[in-house]
Amino acid sequence: MNKPKLDHIGIAVRSLDAAKVYEALGLKIEHVETVETQKVKTAFLSVGDSNLELLEPTEPDSAVAKFIEKRGEGIHHICLRVDNIEEHLEALKAQGYRLINEAPVPGAHGSRVAFLHPSAGNGVLIELSEAINHPEERSEEGSAEPSR
Ligand SMILES: [Zn+2]
Repeated sequence: MNKPKLDHIGIAVRSLDAAKVYEALGLKIEHVETVETQKVKTAFLSVGDSNLELLEPTEPDSAVAKFIEKRGEGIHHICLRVDNIEEHLEALKAQGYRLINEAPVPGAHGSRVAFLHPSAGNGVLIELSEAINHPEERSEEGSAEPSR
């Protein structure tokens, strides 16, 4: 397994207008997507090799809406990009870490994601993400995939 990389930091916001402060800093929204499984609308702003992911709840019963209700807007999770999400989930389970998703669910950008329980991350909600449609990111790892 390759070493995980910081994919993004997820920030819970009431509205994606929260992107304005980052735009004032020179960042740009590069991708907006509604993730039905998480009941959120997301906006990605790339910052070097990583991203900021703004999360606006689309339903009052979404996890992000409940987070904002309880703790206010702010940093919600960190996401590590991995190359074999199932292997990581199994290794974590075997070591007794509590998972929210025992199996990957669809995430933004066609990725497959899984969340660890915040108790496993000392209060930090950790998301694992395996990109499936970013062949350009994989090639730098020297993967065995044939180039197109
Ligand atoms: Zn995320």
